[in-house]
Amino acid sequence: MKYTILGAGIAGLSTAIALQKIGIQAQVFEAAPEIKPLGAGLLLAANAVKAYQRLEIADKIVARGHLLPTFAILDQAGSTITLADAAAISQRYGLHNFAIHRADLHEALLSELDAQYITTGKRAVQIEQNEADITIQFQDGTSATTDCLIVADGIHSAVRRQLLPDAVPRYAGYTCWRAVIDAGDLEWSAASETWGTNGRFGIVPLSGNRIYWFACINAPANDADMSRYTVADLQRHFGNYHAPIAQILAKTRDEDLVWNDIIDLKPVKNFAFGKIVLIGDAAHATTPNMGQGACQAIEDAVVLADELARNEKPEVAFRAFEQRRLKRTRYIVNNSRTLGWLAQISHPLLATARNTLFRIIPESVNERQMKTLFEVDF
Ligand SMILES: Cc1cc2nc3c(=O)[nH]c(=O)nc-3n(C[C@H](O)[C@H](O)[C@H](O)COP(=O)(O)OP(=O)(O)OC[C@H]3O[C@@H](n4cnc5c(N)ncnc54)[C@H](O)[C@@H]3O)c2cc1C
Repeated sequence: MKYTILGAGIAGLSTAIALQKIGIQAQVFEAAPEIKPLGAGLLLAANAVKAYQRLEIADKIVARGHLLPTFAILDQAGSTITLADAAAISQRYGLHNFAIHRADLHEALLSELDAQYITTGKRAVQIEQNEADITIQFQDGTSATTDCLIVADGIHSAVRRQLLPDAVPRYAGYTCWRAVIDAGDLEWSAASETWGTNGRFGIVPLSGNRIYWFACINAPANDADMSRYTVADLQRHFGNYHAPIAQILAKTRDEDLVWNDIIDLKPVKNFAFGKIVLIGDAAHATTPNMGQGACQAIEDAVVLADELARNEKPEVAFRAFEQRRLKRTRYIVNNSRTLGWLAQISHPLLATARNTLFRIIPESVNERQMKTLFEVDF
């Protein structure tokens, strides 16, 4: 049986490794001419680390990242709203809150795979599924046939557009800049996200004395002014936020900025379509507010391989995968969207009320959420 994976992102590569472990050598087709991950840093939580433990590559990946002792939500002045102690969470759920540069994660994943099974420069534009097989048409005029197709081509998935034309990405109401900088003499070991009336600013230390930061500002979709924002504009925008935000921005060059509007996908009802299955962002793209998009893509890889190992017929495995993944990913997409809406409140009175409320949320509520997120049934 021939398996093909579309997309060599976190979902596609993690799945290729998971399939390899159960004796399936999948062919991966990637649109980009070379595998060069866009974006900056990534937080991976206990559930993602557990999934990589299943694939026996967690140590290798964790070694390239940076363990974060705490993760705090702060107000504009720098006072704590909530504080998660990673060591305490780790004791209960396993390794938690670990940050990695996307390029380092990709490098670790690629090192597990045989390069001959990854073909770059192949952008799928259309597929045809019939009784016998599936044909993938690529933009360059070539095509490939396969028995089973795993679609991991991200939020703008061309195949999903064909299978579910109504599932289009939706804008969350805020736009985001990211960068990785050399921390230099800036000593900052804690990860934080600051919720202020001008927007959000996140700081995440990475390995090698680097800092990953992100900034989210409320704005119309595809805003021309935002598209022209430079570091100087961001310095003005976050000028009255606590230290070391100004220092971090001062160390950032305009060419380091990665800018994109924050979008997600309204939860869909199906991931499985006969011998075709959608995974990762192609299936359930979420806003980044819970830091779970990639974590869910990694969980997908393990669950999909588990079902393929149990079921002889791929269409049965794909349907079982769908049943195991729909509810969990819907929960994350919906909760993450709500959290983003709360974090982006710009009205000063509402922001103060929100901060007060978050400060008094009982520990039992946080506990329940962590249990749901981190106690994964693989
Ligand atoms: C600002 C921001 C911050 C985030 N932070 C976090 C975080 O801290 N933690 C976390 O867990 N998640 C985070 N995420 C989410 C995470 O980035 C995604 O969930 C994850 O990258 C999804 O992986 P994927 O492989 O499904 O899709 P992608 O990473 O989009 O990969 C898709 C791949 O498919 C290729 N492709 C596209 N179209 C085609 C085609 N037609 N044919 C062939 N190949 C194609 C692309 O080139 C790409 O290589 C964040 C997202 C954003 C926007």
